[in-house]
Amino acid sequence: MKTRFYPHTFAYLLPHIWRVLCKGACTVGFPFGEAKLPSGYRGVVKIKPELCRGCGLCVRDCPAFGIELEREGRDKFRLIYYPDRCAYCSQCETSCNFGAIYQVNEFVPATDRPDELRVVLVDRWPEEDSTADEDQTD
Ligand code: SF4
Ligand code: SF4
Repeated sequence: MKTRFYPHTFAYLLPHIWRVLCKGACTVGFPFGEAKLPSGYRGVVKIKPELCRGCGLCVRDCPAFGIELEREGRDKFRLIYYPDRCAYCSQCETSCNFGAIYQVNEFVPATDRPDELRVVLVDRWPEEDSTADEDQTD
């Protein structure tokens, strides 16, 4: 197929090409340079463990099953976060009545092993009980 040359199109593009050449690329340099994320960027989920009551509201309202609560009795619980499931919607932050859970403007590291991203946000499960549970399963 023969390619046609349109002089009027080239004339239209020329100032744009010149502008791009003079100003440089508009995209970020990441991963070759630092990624500067805006302060309101909704990235990875963090927690202030001392404020968490283990009420499970964040778990109930998360649309992506990104948080799990393991609970036994009133005071013994673990809150677990799965970044690979997270939709970064901020619903958990909105649902928490105690200001415990929040998002920060950080990326989740890339990996081909999503299981390794699992984060225990709050661990109020005494060590000796965990050991006892493991002994029972042996
Ligand atoms: S940011 Fe949204 S998807 Fe992620 S854990 Fe919170 S509620 Fe779930
Ligand atoms: S982070 Fe907030 S909503 Fe989630 S279990 Fe803890 S206190 Fe409840």
